[in-house]
Amino acid sequence: MRAVVYRRHGGPEVVSSTTLPRPEPGPGEALVAVAACALNHLDLWVRAGLPGVTVEMPHVPGSEIAGAIAALGPGVRGWEPGEPVLVAPGLSCGECPACREGDDTSCARFDILGFRRDGGFAEFARVPARNLRRRSTRLTPVEWAAVPLTFLTAWRMLSTLARTSPGEWVLVMGAGSGVGVAAIQIARHLGARVIAASSSDAKVEKAKALGAEAGVNYASGSFAPHVREITGGRGADVVVEHTGGSLFVEALRSLARRGRLVTCGATSGGTAPIEIRSLYVNQQVVLGSYMGGRRELEEVLSLVEEGKLKPVVDSVFPLERAAEALARMERRENFGKIVLEVSP
Ligand SMILES: [Zn+2]
Repeated sequence: MRAVVYRRHGGPEVVSSTTLPRPEPGPGEALVAVAACALNHLDLWVRAGLPGVTVEMPHVPGSEIAGAIAALGPGVRGWEPGEPVLVAPGLSCGECPACREGDDTSCARFDILGFRRDGGFAEFARVPARNLRRRSTRLTPVEWAAVPLTFLTAWRMLSTLARTSPGEWVLVMGAGSGVGVAAIQIARHLGARVIAASSSDAKVEKAKALGAEAGVNYASGSFAPHVREITGGRGADVVVEHTGGSLFVEALRSLARRGRLVTCGATSGGTAPIEIRSLYVNQQVVLGSYMGGRRELEEVLSLVEEGKLKPVVDSVFPLERAAEALARMERRENFGKIVLEVSP
């Protein structure tokens, strides 16, 4: 099968287009014919290598797969070859108390498709059958691939953790990213008012077209005063953060009294100083969030099926041009998701 792999950890030079043997689904597994697979920042982290994380090479990245069932392993019931599916990106044991309650991210064996296990930058992907989800044909495979990990991540941040209420102000950092475009729509769906923060005026304008009421450009430096001004001096009740570094500090400064900042990433820096006094005097909460659980995925997928949340596709590349697609994401040129079309 055609595949794109990382030969070792490194920069763009380790990405190579190749052929691999077609995997065989084992007991409880399914083989999915990948129609489309979306990119995530995780793909760049895996390419670079993360401390303490061992990834077997060559590695097939890719966490968001839309396709159809190609074959089923022994013992798999309730599915038929040819059925259109999405693959839930969270991998877990399925048996521990956390898994049984639908919160698989708390499983001691939690992993993400394409992180340590081979993912969807290939014609076929071998996945646990319990990760299969039916998808309608109201969206194309490319559009569906732009949904699962991204919308799930933003849903957990805004709904489960921040408990965003109607009328609250939500500041969405990195508004043009996959998580950003999902967060804007989810915040609006929850009745909140959105301020989109991005590094370019063009992206802020696109975010407004998606439902943001106001925008700030953080390329020009301090933006917390601007957020205060927009919110009538109050600050943002909720911040969706994934940029890290000095932007994290500024995002925290934008937070209202009793506000909640939820972070799921650190694309521009893994450490940031916190003004502890300001944090406790203003009774603010900083929450860490890592993707989301199965139950949350069901909630968010139903909203997509109902047309209440819509994937935003920035660009589509053929599988063989994955290195170019990754470079576009690395340069932050995208607004919305970059998707690889594997078999049109
Ligand atoms: Zn478990």
